[in-house]
Amino acid sequence: MRIVIDHVSKSFGKVTALSDVNLEIGAGELFFLLGPSGCGKTTLLRCIGGFEQPTAGRIFFGDEDVTGKQAHERNTAMVFQGYALWPHMTVAENVAFGLEMRRVSGAERARRVDEALARVQISELRNRRPNELSGGQQQRVALARTLVVQPGCLLLDEPLANLDAKLRRDMRREIRSLCKESGLTGIYVTHDRQEALSMADRVAVLKDGVIRQVASPQELYRRPASAFIANFIGETNFLRGKVVANEPGRVLLDVAGVRLVAESCPEAFGIGAEVVLSLRPEALFRTYEAGEGANRLRVTVRETSYLGEIADHIAVSEQGQEIKFFELNPVGMLRNGEALTLGVEARDVVILPEAD
Ligand code: ATP
Repeated sequence: MRIVIDHVSKSFGKVTALSDVNLEIGAGELFFLLGPSGCGKTTLLRCIGGFEQPTAGRIFFGDEDVTGKQAHERNTAMVFQGYALWPHMTVAENVAFGLEMRRVSGAERARRVDEALARVQISELRNRRPNELSGGQQQRVALARTLVVQPGCLLLDEPLANLDAKLRRDMRREIRSLCKESGLTGIYVTHDRQEALSMADRVAVLKDGVIRQVASPQELYRRPASAFIANFIGETNFLRGKVVANEPGRVLLDVAGVRLVAESCPEAFGIGAEVVLSLRPEALFRTYEAGEGANRLRVTVRETSYLGEIADHIAVSEQGQEIKFFELNPVGMLRNGEALTLGVEARDVVILPEAD
């Protein structure tokens, strides 16, 4: 089911939770709403589910205008972080509950419950009660309960927030394949960037009730639209520079006397423009080449943390700027005060379209 959000705003008294939100979510797409606490993502999800009414704007499911319809009149199902299972009912009864409400008959009901339990691989737990289940198993019951009513759209509100790190990683894969196998449109709210990057087809990043960027995970990470997004979606170094020359595929920048080359430049910037650059710590590498070529930064190591698979270093450039860089599979340790040269590929020098 395709979902269109058309100029939606929502206020609670003086608080503007959403401001002129426009989105088109494709049928079968797993779409993420990502952003810091209070940015409006839950409010948007609740407007889509019919638990809140927008102050302005319209919401369409396919061609149908569902604005003004109540939650139970919309063909959606919601998965919460608290699971909200009935403690006195067995797993199978919990899953069957939504069908009873919809007056689905005995034989049909039993068949659909069996199918939903099998789908999330908990058929053998059907006679247990929620307090006899692990967190991951409870999450599966919550998923089965939503799948059984055959919704056109699955709304997920931080569904994995209560699980431990390992289980959270496993469930990410399972929820994604569940959505993809059943062709369900999924809208998933989280403030966990890795959850969004690893699961989403596309992500909308919100800040203060405004959508700041809609993009695929790779585009969001490699081509963030602003410093806010670059910083929210991963660690990075910001540098200020000036455009010196701009040719197709090769943009020359001056960063406090150091020459950096980027592959592309947002259209808004001409020669002489002051720009903000983002260099990811994993894109910086140690180089032993002699010479003063472009994309070389001379730095002095300040602090080093050994984390096993990577080492996390903080250094200071000759211009006094703090530079963070990662070293994969570190063998020897860098010493504080050690001088070295860092390199970066032109494709990893990102000129940000917006500075905030
Ligand atoms: P979190 O990750 O903390 O859940 P969120 O991005 O989901 O945050 P929302 O819950 O959508 O944010 O809240 C957006 C803004 O609207 C916040 O400033 C919040 O305080 C406010 N808000 C949300 N619901 C209500 C309400 N029922 N009454 C008043 N203000 C509300």
